[in-house]
Amino acid sequence: MDISLYVHYPFCLRKCLYCAFNSVADSSLRSEDYVAGLLGEMELRSRAIKQDCAAVTLYFGGGTPSLLAPSLVARIVDAAGSLYALKADAEITLECNPGTVSGQLLADFRSAGINRLSIGVQSFDDRMLQRLGRVHTAREARDAFTLAREAGFVNLGLDLIHSLPGQTPDMWEKELLRACDLAPEHVSVYGLAVEEGTPFASLEKDGMLSLPEEDDAVRMFELSTEILCCRGFEHYEISNFARPGFRSRHNSGYWKRVPCLGFGAGAHSFYPEPAHGMRCATTERVGEYLAALQEGELPHREQRILDRREAMAERLFLGLRMSDGVDLQAFAAEFGVSFHEVFGEGCADIFKAGLLELRDGFLRLSRNGLLLSNQVFVRFL
Ligand code: SF4
Repeated sequence: MDISLYVHYPFCLRKCLYCAFNSVADSSLRSEDYVAGLLGEMELRSRAIKQDCAAVTLYFGGGTPSLLAPSLVARIVDAAGSLYALKADAEITLECNPGTVSGQLLADFRSAGINRLSIGVQSFDDRMLQRLGRVHTAREARDAFTLAREAGFVNLGLDLIHSLPGQTPDMWEKELLRACDLAPEHVSVYGLAVEEGTPFASLEKDGMLSLPEEDDAVRMFELSTEILCCRGFEHYEISNFARPGFRSRHNSGYWKRVPCLGFGAGAHSFYPEPAHGMRCATTERVGEYLAALQEGELPHREQRILDRREAMAERLFLGLRMSDGVDLQAFAAEFGVSFHEVFGEGCADIFKAGLLELRDGFLRLSRNGLLLSNQVFVRFL
């Protein structure tokens, strides 16, 4: 059985003003100690893994995993090989903050086994980067990309954020064109979401954050599709674009409900059993996480076994994120009941409104459905 592996490194140089991820700017803990705990967790959990499992992807996310020493990355890749049969052709991705890398470091990551980088550019506009609280400049982002190419990486992704404070569709168009100039294999574009508990949420509450009007935000989403698709990218997921053959295998596995083991503080896992699957997470607090492992215990925070209805909902709202859509024959075979029997009545109006389309046995979001995906997904919950 194919499985995915995720490693969470929750440390950053500084907390960005919009960030709600499980990450901390804390230099008091040595990464060697964190990785020792993480390797312990990988070892402990491998005991419950079936013999026929093989890892097809390994993803280092964060936080800022590009702060890790390549020697520590290599130890984790080796552990994935020995404990989870990481395949020789596995996709091994590292999220890379442009403010943390040098040519030598990138070359060393490649020697450590990393074969794909996801570079967190976010914007090519220095004023925007400052407003977001990023630690790097636009120049450093471009340099990181060039250095990664020189280090031999042939699979590079860029992350960008649109609908930033003060941003107009014209400004966003320039961002997309700058991204295309670098010729990456993959581009992720996310609309800024102001999350509770972040400095941006406080600024918004105080009327200090001037976000684009909804029409402009919609236009920016549309521009992403128009510009990137014209330049050879496939719009394969709501927020993701790839050149042919360069979809993110790791994230595609998530949307297809491929079993995934997440390691590290606050990492999430998905097991195909019992029943219709189980979702688990480890504790987010690094101290608690390491203390549990020192006692030889797994640092569980939550565990939820899915019933059939929840699994059907997941199959739909994760699958519909992808342009491939959901194969309704496979859906019926998996759950023993048809989509129409369970959701037909509840979805009649969104079919009528043209948000969902059914073609050749596949259910897909329409062009408008992509813009209003959350309104579609709530129908399955
Ligand atoms: S670098 Fe990423 S994870 Fe770290 S604070 Fe910024 S947005 Fe959050």
